[in-house]
Amino acid sequence: MTAVTTSLPTAPASSGAASPATLEAEGISAWFADHKVLDRVSLTMPALEVTALIGPSGCGKSTFLRILNRMHELIPSASLAGRVLLDGDDIYDRGRRITRARREIGMVFQKPNPFPAMSLYDNVLAGLKLNGIRANSSGKDSLVEECLTKAGLWREVKDRLRQPGGALSGGQQQRLCIARSLAVRPRVLLMDEPCSALDPTSTRRIEETIADLKEEVTIVIVTHNMQQAARVSDNCAFFLAEQGTPGVIVEHGSTDAMFNSPQDSRTSDYVNGRF
Ligand code: ADP
Ligand code: MG
Repeated sequence: MTAVTTSLPTAPASSGAASPATLEAEGISAWFADHKVLDRVSLTMPALEVTALIGPSGCGKSTFLRILNRMHELIPSASLAGRVLLDGDDIYDRGRRITRARREIGMVFQKPNPFPAMSLYDNVLAGLKLNGIRANSSGKDSLVEECLTKAGLWREVKDRLRQPGGALSGGQQQRLCIARSLAVRPRVLLMDEPCSALDPTSTRRIEETIADLKEEVTIVIVTHNMQQAARVSDNCAFFLAEQGTPGVIVEHGSTDAMFNSPQDSRTSDYVNGRF
């Protein structure tokens, strides 16, 4: 049978990395029904750097992350104002497809969510399917190997790629999810507390993976772990929602400056564990 012709994109050749991009949020406000949860948040997340979003629970970090890849609009009560620019292109432009934002800006969640009954091999390729990309059959094996390698999992699983995703440990499942995200060659990878369900050893492995991935993808990570923010990030933004007001960024800058010479006393209190 000849190859089916279709307008679906095919998986990129296994050696090519996507071009990492700078992500800019401009004046983002967000609501759930009439409850405003973010107020005019602006932040530049530079290409090939790791930006950490820190701040107490409920100040809108996850909402902000979902706005960055157009997942927010899947929530029926949700609305927003502002712009998100990917290397200068507004991802919310009319005519720009939502699936394109999802493909270019991947997401890894707090709780590892591989397809538990699906093989490790198919889990990685599922990232393509979910994004409507046809896997190039000749390149599948090398793509799976490449993504698992980048996620730091290849050596552990290369002899059992047909085992189900659910058979892995929690930390391995999270790295499988990272591999699945990488298969579509995102330009930005968003990570929402990717280690908070994991033990310290698994956490360390994910941090090593982040350090390696930084060479080829822009990373935005939400973390409650200040040591982790200090270890993995180049830049930091401190979110806060005071007394029922919507979340804002109190301060942002280089991680070094945020931890060693914060300008705002609330940043200083937060990074030093005083609230
Ligand atoms: P964080 O990630 O910083 O803990 P979130 O973005 O999860 O904060 O939440 C910010 C605010 O938005 C909270 O007040 C939360 O209750 C509210 N919120 C989050 N998700 C929803 C939702 N799906 N529906 C209604 N309110 C929500
Ligand atoms: Mg959250």
